[in-house]
Amino acid sequence: DPRIAKISSAIRIIPDFPKPGIMFQDITTLLLDTKAFKDTIDLFVERYRDQNISVVAGVEARGFIFGPPIALAIGAKFVPMRKPKKLPEEYSLEYGTDKIEMHVGAVQPGERALVIDDLIATGGTLCAAIKLLERVGVNVVECACVIELPELKGREKLGGKSLFILVEGE
Ligand code: 5GP
Repeated sequence: DPRIAKISSAIRIIPDFPKPGIMFQDITTLLLDTKAFKDTIDLFVERYRDQNISVVAGVEARGFIFGPPIALAIGAKFVPMRKPKKLPEEYSLEYGTDKIEMHVGAVQPGERALVIDDLIATGGTLCAAIKLLERVGVNVVECACVIELPELKGREKLGGKSLFILVEGE
């Protein structure tokens, strides 16, 4: 798809942030490129519009940017997957540890969900989001990210759950 190259080049890479050796993929520059940002949302919407998805679960903080426009376009509700306090699933990040939680009652058993984040690195974040949703009986149809860092093999942590990505980062 010719849109992918433009999306990829709109993502800024910040070397050695937040730690030496990390090539941080900065999606804020993608948000400034109105065409590439729209194409990003459109690519997800085209994939998910006819899949009977009732929940788009976006992971804090950048899943809160990409998730809502996708949810609106496919007629699903948006559920924020938050960092700390209730229903925590502890998980490891590429640069530290964190937790994830969701509002009680936001989703019902049997609902079909799509989990959205900007990027998958080690897969710990998406893995925690999947576990949390499955714990309350939600069917996670797929996970989707704008960027995958394939070298970190995060995909393997998703317990066979399918992952859709737009671009690969280093
Ligand atoms: P994981 O749990 O897969 O190791 O890390 C993914 C989480 O960390 C995502 O929520 C993502 O937003 C954040 N993250 C890790 N590395 C980067 C990066 O290079 N760029 C951005 N934008 N987010 C990152």
